[in-house]
Parts: sequence; C-alpha cells; structure tokens
Amino acid sequence: MKVSLKLEKFEFKGISPERPLIMAGPCSAESEEQVMETARQINQYGVKIFRAGLWKPRTRPNAFEGVGKEGLPWLRRVKDEFGMYTATEVANVKHVYDALKGGIDIIWLGARTTANPFAVQEIAEALKGVDVPVMVKNPVSPDFELWIGAFERLNAVGITKMAAIHRGFSTYYKTLYRNNPQWEIPIELKRLLPDLPIITDPSHICGGRELLFEVSQRAMDLDFYGLIVETHCNPDKALSDAQQQLTPEGLHKLLGKLVLRNPEIQNNVILSTLEELRHEIDKYDDKLMEIFEHRMGVSRKIGEYKKQNNITILQTGRWDEILRNKIEQAAKKGLSEEFIIKVFRAIHEESINHQTKVMNE
Ligand code: PEP
Ligand code: MN
Repeated sequence: MKVSLKLEKFEFKGISPERPLIMAGPCSAESEEQVMETARQINQYGVKIFRAGLWKPRTRPNAFEGVGKEGLPWLRRVKDEFGMYTATEVANVKHVYDALKGGIDIIWLGARTTANPFAVQEIAEALKGVDVPVMVKNPVSPDFELWIGAFERLNAVGITKMAAIHRGFSTYYKTLYRNNPQWEIPIELKRLLPDLPIITDPSHICGGRELLFEVSQRAMDLDFYGLIVETHCNPDKALSDAQQQLTPEGLHKLLGKLVLRNPEIQNNVILSTLEELRHEIDKYDDKLMEIFEHRMGVSRKIGEYKKQNNITILQTGRWDEILRNKIEQAAKKGLSEEFIIKVFRAIHEESINHQTKVMNE
C-alpha cells in the first residue's frame, strides 16, 4: 500500500518535544468541580494536555452521554487557570464548530467515528482552513485502511498537525483486554508513516487498571510517541469508564515507573552484537521461506491428486488433528498456543488457496 501525508510536527509551545507526550484527564467532563480538581492535580504532576469528553458515544442509550457544550467554559478555565492545552472528541460538524468556538486546542475523532467515512469526510470539510491539531483514534474494527483513510481525508483539507491514537480493537471473543491492542497494526502504521506520531490509549485498551502500566511500557518500548490516560479525581464515582480511570496520583506513579529505552543504537559493540543476532534471524527466516515454498509445492500435488479422485479440498477432521498436535508440540518447545494457532491457520489457508488454484486449472 502506498500512502503519503504532508505532516507538520505534532509539538506544542511550552511542552518538550521529547517523548513521551502525555495527555490525561477524565473520560467525561462531569461537573465544573470535577474538571477543575482533576486538572489542578494532574497539572501539579507536570501534565500539560488535558483530555475530557464532552459528547460521549455510548453503546447503549440512557447511559450518561456527556454534558455537551455546557462543559466548554470549564475547559476554558483549565486553559486560563493552569495554562494547559485542552483536548476533546468531536463526532459531527456541530461538535467541531462548538469545540473550536469554545477554544478547544486539540480535537480527536473517536473510534466509532473513524469507522464511518461519511462522518470523517463531513468533519474534515468543517475543518477546512482551520489550523488545529487533530488526533484520530483507530477504528473499532481492525481495519487498517479505514484508519489511513481518515488521515488522508483530513490531510486533503489542509490538516497537517496530526497524530494517531492507538486504543485497541473490538473482538467478538473475550481477551485479556477490553480492546485487543493488536500491536502489529500500529507498528505497520509507524512503518508506513514514520512521521505520524502514535499515542497509545492504555485506558481503552485495558478497560481496567491492572494492565495499564504494562501496556504503557510496551508502547514506549515500541518507540511510540505518547500516552493518553484517563484520569479522574474520584475514579470510582466516574459517570463513564469508572473501572479504567486512574487517580492523578496513580497516573503520577505509572509515569514514574516507565522506562524509556533508546530507539537509536549508538554503542558499536551493542550494534555489532545485535547485527550478528539479526543475521542469524535472517538465516532462519530464509530457511522458513524455503520450507514454505516446498510445503506449498506438496499442497499443490495433493490438490492435483484430490482433483483426479474427485475429493473435496477440506477435510475438517484432518485439520483439527493437525492443530491439536501442533498445540501439544508448541508447549514443549516454549511457543505460545496463540502464536502456533495463528501460524498454522495462515499456513492452512495458504495451502487451501494453492489447492483451489490447482483444482480450477
Ligand atoms: C474516549 O476516549 O473516552 C472514547 C470514547 O474513546 P474511544 O473512541 O476510543 O472508544
Ligand atoms: Mn472513556
């Protein structure tokens, strides 16, 4: 896939451009007191960008849907009294106008909005000619191009100060997380668009407080640029996302524990050792490629044989047996079940594709 964006640095006057860029604040602005108290405390801990949702997209009706533009003057006070930048989510054109008129400094598109190209296009058009930083959360489903598409739509109207927010992806099956991080997706985004900063949202990935540090540290180890962490002066009483929000003190502790490792290797000894190890890995990867080539050759032979004998490609019993065997072997080899299932699913799918091709020849 080819993609190119015209990007400006995602930096803010008075905030160090060094990573991590930290944004924090409540899931929702609930009252003037809650907003001011949370902002006061996190500002004391050195956080300079305050997030708060005014318009809340809720899965089911009758849940707290945000205070709307009534909260704009509260965020204005956060700017005026603490000198912080403010950020909020916009989901339609009206939100955009209200937020900009209300003095919001940074806006973001939520995961449900990114999933809707009509909404993204309308928001982009409302932003034409406006110089405002925009962050785009990944869409709820792991659809990489939908995410890219949102950046392209915004870029096309002249928005150049952009960042991506990685907030994880919905899954039908239950995982450890509220939204599965699927790290390979933001990693691919970074590979394709190295100048687009990635800000991880551990709160919406985790859905609870236990794994917040681990996910934040992982984001730093992947050299992502920042974190946006839901923080509330009284999390247990929060009107939305109560389980995942930290107290300002909890946030301070989490940030204090983060280890920032160097993305660039300056030491020659480290560099040459790493190069040797990487060379070894490359050799194994080449071997894997060769094995795949031969394995798929055998699959094609099987396809031919099945064709001659009028047998279906898929025999479910056989595939079940392979998978069960491999999972058993994996445990003995120190490989995770999840990994082995993924690898063998992919191999099996490719194998079926080869056989189908032969069948149709
Ligand atoms: C939020 O940041 O509070 C929010 C609603 O997030 P998301 O769009 O990631 O669900
Ligand atoms: Mn939230």
